[in-house]
Amino acid sequence: MSPSKIEIVDQLSALVGEANVISDAEGMGRFLREPRKRFHQSAQAVVLPEDTNALQAVVRWANETGTGLIPQGGNTGLVGAQVPLSGAEVIVSLAHFDKVRDVNAAAGHMTVEAGLTLEKAQQAADAEGSLFPLFIASQGSATIGGVLSSNAGGIQVLAYGNARELCLGVEAVMPDGALYKGLNALRKDNTGYDLRDLLVGAEGTLGFITAATLKLAAKPEGHETAWINVASPAEAFALFSLVRDRAGTTLSAFELVPRFGIEMQLTHGMLERDPSASPSPWYVMAEISRPKGGLEGVLTDALAEAFEQDLVSDASIAQSLDERANMWRTRENMSEVQSREGASIKHDVSVPVAAVPELIERGSAAAGKLIEGIRPCPFGHMGDGNIHFNFSPPVGYDNAAFMAEAPKLHDAIYEIVLDLGGSVSAEHGIGQLKTGLLKQVKDPVALAVMRKIKGALDPNGIMNPGKMLDEF
Ligand SMILES: Cc1cc2nc3c(=O)[nH]c(=O)nc-3n(C[C@H](O)[C@H](O)[C@H](O)COP(=O)(O)OP(=O)(O)OC[C@H]3O[C@@H](n4cnc5c(N)ncnc54)[C@H](O)[C@@H]3O)c2cc1C
Repeated sequence: MSPSKIEIVDQLSALVGEANVISDAEGMGRFLREPRKRFHQSAQAVVLPEDTNALQAVVRWANETGTGLIPQGGNTGLVGAQVPLSGAEVIVSLAHFDKVRDVNAAAGHMTVEAGLTLEKAQQAADAEGSLFPLFIASQGSATIGGVLSSNAGGIQVLAYGNARELCLGVEAVMPDGALYKGLNALRKDNTGYDLRDLLVGAEGTLGFITAATLKLAAKPEGHETAWINVASPAEAFALFSLVRDRAGTTLSAFELVPRFGIEMQLTHGMLERDPSASPSPWYVMAEISRPKGGLEGVLTDALAEAFEQDLVSDASIAQSLDERANMWRTRENMSEVQSREGASIKHDVSVPVAAVPELIERGSAAAGKLIEGIRPCPFGHMGDGNIHFNFSPPVGYDNAAFMAEAPKLHDAIYEIVLDLGGSVSAEHGIGQLKTGLLKQVKDPVALAVMRKIKGALDPNGIMNPGKMLDEF
């Protein structure tokens, strides 16, 4: 028989200490509220183990009692993977796992615990003259365990890869309570199946990551950052090819922003003036991270060529750190400004980078047929083929009526994405938001293997039940 809430709290308190168990509604509130305010379930309790021994004890208890456990880091996930589905679960916060264990800048790696925020991990690398090159807008709260478990991407994937590519090894408490000691700093290790690659991107369904060894990069000597006017996504792609050819792996960001995004920022007071002298239907923000001793002016030279080829109509290169920060702010305001504008129907999708213009053209046309006057706002990491294909309602349209149209719009956009060989979840994951969709679109062989892996590692289904694979 499942234990009652009182029994759960008593039993967990015996395992991790009374001070590390929260069960009142007010205390649990911040662990239950997720950024998009879509999911509203309660939990039996929130537990905050202080070390791996205590965490292992909680996992063994969960197997004995059949209680679902939800790993939680910074609670910034956007697909509801870190919050309860049924209310019968216990949230396990890794907040006490917040130490920097070792930074070896000379060898290019560091080992940190899973509850450390991404920003603190970046600061630890920076203090030793090195760079941990994973940047997302939520980095002040998002944790290493969370970014690895959701294989976060962000704004510099182009040069450095996503979380998976930045991870050398992990330590983890597996679903049976065993401690996997995989914290190695090896760049080469061909000794069979790699548990690290299973745990990264598993959204907490295959165990708790407790620490990780991460790759460090050399700190760039400087950046060249430009805000560039282009006529269309097709020109943006041509510009991308040109700049990539000239800059190689020093091209660290290539972001696309539509005029509509700038107009919204001006309307809502997030931007004082237009980012370039003349308005343009589309903008690219490109950045080069110049290595020590690297040549200056690579981006300027590439843009001069792009002018000659009529790919761009105007461009400004940041002349100071402030100007660079302003360009980044304009790009990063894009998510926030849409919520100020009203309802927004969102799609975090990716396609092969050359197909981005077709995705935007076909997706905008299909949406316009469904809802006359709909305002497409596709923006994001064009260099990775990852577009946040969002839509705002026609002016004056009722927000609730607009959101009621979301399923039709999703179907139309995902159909185009799949037709172009893309993915319906580029960087935010599956969580509880896209479990149904995963079943529809994932290769059936891959889906069957995923289910077998889950069943083999977590036969009692205690790890983040119902997330990603909703049969468990
Ligand atoms: C403003 C904003 C901007 C964002 N920008 C980006 C972006 O550019 N790119 C991007 O990829 N994402 C982005 N995100 C999404 C989010 O920040 C990332 O998914 C982040 O990686 C989640 O980290 P977290 O610590 O908050 O994890 P949580 O939200 O707490 O959890 C996320 C998932 O990881 C699991 N998990 C957490 N910790 C562990 C652990 N120790 N062991 C096992 N599983 C664990 C959870 O169960 C859940 O499945 C953004 C979010 C916000 C709010």
